[in-house]
Formats: sequence, C-alpha cells, structure tokens
Amino acid sequence: MIVSMRLHATKEEIDHVCERIREFGYHVHSIQGEARVVIGVIGVGDVTACLESLEATPGVESAVRISAPYKFVSREFRKERSVIGVNGLEIGGGEFIVTAGPCSVESESQIMETAQAVAEAGAHMLRGGAFKPRTSPYDFQGLELEGLKLLEKAKRATGLAIVTEVMSDRDVEMVAEHADMLQIGARNMQNFALLKSLGRCGRPVLLKRGMSSTIKELLMSAEYVVAHGNSSVILCERGIRTFETATRNTCDIAAIPVLNELTHLPVLLDPSHAAGRRSIVPALARAGAAAGADGLLIEVHPCPEKAVSDGAQSLTVPQFRDLMRQLKPYIALWREMRTAAASARA
Ligand code: PEP
Ligand code: MN
Repeated sequence: MIVSMRLHATKEEIDHVCERIREFGYHVHSIQGEARVVIGVIGVGDVTACLESLEATPGVESAVRISAPYKFVSREFRKERSVIGVNGLEIGGGEFIVTAGPCSVESESQIMETAQAVAEAGAHMLRGGAFKPRTSPYDFQGLELEGLKLLEKAKRATGLAIVTEVMSDRDVEMVAEHADMLQIGARNMQNFALLKSLGRCGRPVLLKRGMSSTIKELLMSAEYVVAHGNSSVILCERGIRTFETATRNTCDIAAIPVLNELTHLPVLLDPSHAAGRRSIVPALARAGAAAGADGLLIEVHPCPEKAVSDGAQSLTVPQFRDLMRQLKPYIALWREMRTAAASARA
C-alpha cells in the first residue's frame, strides 16, 4: 500500500497515520518527500479495512493498494508521467531529449571538440564516461577525477548538462559534485549497495538495464533508488543479450512501450550499445522515437577509429548531424502521440 499525505501534513498527522498502519499489523517501510509525504506500507493484513480507515484519517489524501512488486515506480502509484528536471531541462516532459558524446572522456581536445559539435547539432546533454566498466582489466579504465573536470569544462563552454557513469558507492559523492545526472551502467544495475547510496545523492539517476535483466528486475532496481529517497530516476534500454550475434546486443524495442505501461518514470533508448556498430544506430534511434522513448543516448566521437572504447558503434560528427535531421519527422510524430496520450488521460 502507498499512503499519500496532504500537502504540508503535520508531523503529528504523519505519526498518527504510522501508528494506525502498525495497529493493522503492517510495517511502515519508507517515508518520502518533504512538502508532500508519501508512506510506503508493507506486510499482510486486512487491506480493505486498513485502506478505508486510512482514507478517513486526518491528513491523508489517498491510500492505494499496489499489486506490482515495485511500488513507488509503478503506474498504479502515479498515473501521470514523471517529469524529471536536469539542469533546467525536463526529461519525460514535452521535449524529446538527445544526449550525445563519446563512450569515454579521453582528453581535453576530444571532449571539447565533441561537446561543441553535438551542441551545434542540437543535442541537449553531453555524455562521457570518466569511470569505465571494461570487460578486460587491461583496457582503459577512464580518466576518473580528471575526466569529471574535463566534462565540467565542456559544460561551461557549451551549456550542455553532463551525464556520466558512477561505478562504486564510494565515488557517488564525488561524481555528484561534478555531474548533472549519474549513470548506472548495465553491469551495475543490480549493485544494490550502489543503488542504495544514490538515494541521497541529490542528482537524477540514469539507470541502464542490465544486459541479462528482465524489465521487472530493471523496475525493482529503480525501486531501490526511489525507496532510498531519490525519486528522480530515468530508465534506459540499451539492448539485452540473446542468441543473436549479428548485433552486439538485441535492441528490445518493445521494452519502451512496456515500460510506458508499467511505470511513470521516463525511458531513454541507447541504440549505440544495442547495435554495436554505427551503420544501424540511426535506424534504431528512429525506432526509439517512434516507440515512445523520452529521448536517446548516443555515442559520438570526432574520430571513432581512434576511440579508446566503443569506436565501432560511435557515430562521427557528420553522421550525428544527419541523424538529428532524420529524427525531425519522428519527433513531430512523437509530439502528436504525447499530446494525444495526455488528452486521453485528462
Ligand atoms: C556506456 O554508456 O558507455 C556503457 C558502458 O554502457 P552500458 O553500461 O549500457 O554497457
Ligand atoms: Mn560505451
């Protein structure tokens, strides 16, 4: 069950509601929000009686039963889509958000050149890894703090907000100081210690789907972050591992409409890691917009053949410019779909 308190409910009212919850044999699992408090309730008991009683308790706006195992992130909990602010941008709102940049931050000239180019081409945010989760321990592991500082420099030059990966709970505070949004990579989607530490990081989180994870597991991981105090979570489909070897991963395009049904959280598509090679990235990117993603995460490198990671799937700058042009009619369609969905809900 989820109990939403009225705006500015008093501490006494909140304490009283918690007491009533316990009297019915349930546990108060988490309490979130400052102006508007939301109480997560778990346990076994007489749901109907408890819901009825809570709805009649002072300070309570609504009490609802959530049947999904993920509570706060479910559509049952919140009918309207969540709109998440990132440095003045809105993800999940009326604009299709394109985040572009290299897989890894490699040098000052590389990140500055890429940032300028993607900004001019119309990207809204800059991506770039300073901490890299590499399959081989002998591969480039990222510039770490130096990389974060270079990203900040690129932000100052272009105004683009920064999204970058954090791999360990030890680094969350440091990465949050430099980045606008923290990326959790596919390999860490179920690193629960890391997910818990994001609860109080004060930054939106971009949670990528694990390469062998189900949609339900992705939502349970998002629930970890939200249940620990951070409701600003954006999901990312980046391809899953299947028997198919023609692409690096299999782009689960259906995950986008499925997630749009199951959760109110925004969903991005990363066609670069799904494809593994640049020739098919534009087609998947267009499909993402058509399927109703809130935006894209795209790898772009000024000279992909020299990239230290993921060069084969990185678009060149002219290819990215061309993709932005190709996306225009899809984004127009996307806007129409969004407006129609919003008026159907109203
Ligand atoms: C990345 O975005 O460069 C990355 C490592 O992605 P993923 O975690 O999806 O493999
Ligand atoms: Mn990459």
